[in-house]
Amino acid sequence: MKNLALHWKILIGMVLGILFGLGMTTINGGAQFIANWINPFGTIFVKLLKLIAVPLIIASLVKGISDLKDISKFKNIGLRTIGIYIVTTVIAISIGLLLVNIVQPGNGISEETITKLTDTYANSGGVQSKIAEASKQKSSGPLQFLVDMVPDNALKAMSENKSMLQVIFFTIFLGISMLLIGEKRAKPLKDFFDSLNEVVLKMVDLIMLFAPYAVFALLANVVVSSNDPDLLVALLKYAMTVVGGLLLMITIYMIFVSIFTKKNPLWFLKQLSPAQLLAFSTSSSAATLPVTMERVEEHIGVDKEVSSFVLPVGATINMDGTSLYQAVAAVFIAQALGFELSFIDQLMIVLTALLASIGSAAVPGAGMVMLVIVLEAVNFPADKLAIGLALIFAVDRPLDMCRTVVNVTGDATVSALVAKSVGKLHDNPVAKNWDDNYDE
Ligand code: ASP
Repeated sequence: MKNLALHWKILIGMVLGILFGLGMTTINGGAQFIANWINPFGTIFVKLLKLIAVPLIIASLVKGISDLKDISKFKNIGLRTIGIYIVTTVIAISIGLLLVNIVQPGNGISEETITKLTDTYANSGGVQSKIAEASKQKSSGPLQFLVDMVPDNALKAMSENKSMLQVIFFTIFLGISMLLIGEKRAKPLKDFFDSLNEVVLKMVDLIMLFAPYAVFALLANVVVSSNDPDLLVALLKYAMTVVGGLLLMITIYMIFVSIFTKKNPLWFLKQLSPAQLLAFSTSSSAATLPVTMERVEEHIGVDKEVSSFVLPVGATINMDGTSLYQAVAAVFIAQALGFELSFIDQLMIVLTALLASIGSAAVPGAGMVMLVIVLEAVNFPADKLAIGLALIFAVDRPLDMCRTVVNVTGDATVSALVAKSVGKLHDNPVAKNWDDNYDE
């Protein structure tokens, strides 16, 4: 076990977790045992990752910007990043729309299944809380997201895990100001952040020692808390459409990697795999961010100047998996409930799913909240919203796990593309971490 590469250890942890969870579902009180004695270790692990996310973003972003030595370079990287993010998201939504229109998973779904799903979930806390959260988000004006991006208290922004964009805003502001006062005068602060950055990366290493056990706990818990298997089967066609789209999206990323960075896509996926496996296990791109950064910088060879900006921003605003899912889910619900969507409506879905994925938080289940906004944009009847969400609720967790993998893979791919385009993709990344000796 000691000489096994990290991704294998994590994979073994996941498989054992699933098997253990399945075994426990057959035992009376098994689910309760997992909730009491196993799940807390998964929760601790996710908390540890979130704990270091803010210091890591700050330290590495300050380092990244101050290493640039010139603001125009930052502008260049920033514009490329946002441009490529928008392109990949539009591709993802278009794939989603194309597949759902071809497969039409909502058209064959029986009245009986619809009634069963509605009875089970429409009034459940899960569905109702998503609708309530969405209406909170929506009640603000169109420019609210800009207002929300600017913190009025930097420490408060750092202490609230919800406001990652505020932290990024403050840090970019700090980094740019350090560039402006000149290298000599900014040196003490820069040295401090450089050192903090190294320390935080060491913390990532230490936390990752615990990863194989943590994913065991996380997946055992997902298995015992998953829903009625009959309903899962009824939604198989819909779920397969989403998963098919997500796989297609990963294939497209890999084509981009191969064409634009000249790296071998399989090598790329292997280097990134621990981050992907964690994305799958935690359903949160924010919790996965520290590991994504470590993998991309030290195993794929993206320079910190690029990754320190591209990845934290991407974790918050670039969610290709989520936007693809929102497109499929919106059309699926419309098909199942006999709600006609015109071509203009489908275009509207492209636009709103793009904005909704930017607005979705990088935490489990966030994509479904913003789906409400996508549905409302095509004038979906408000009284049927709960029924619509009830239709897809049973399979939302497994799909959330899959779309989070795509969200993370998308960010990593874009960071490599941007790095290559500005000459900052290194050939020989220096893996100086936990699996140095046997992972390459
Ligand atoms: N869980 C996703 C993420 O963190 C967001 C979502 O689609 O719900 O990336």
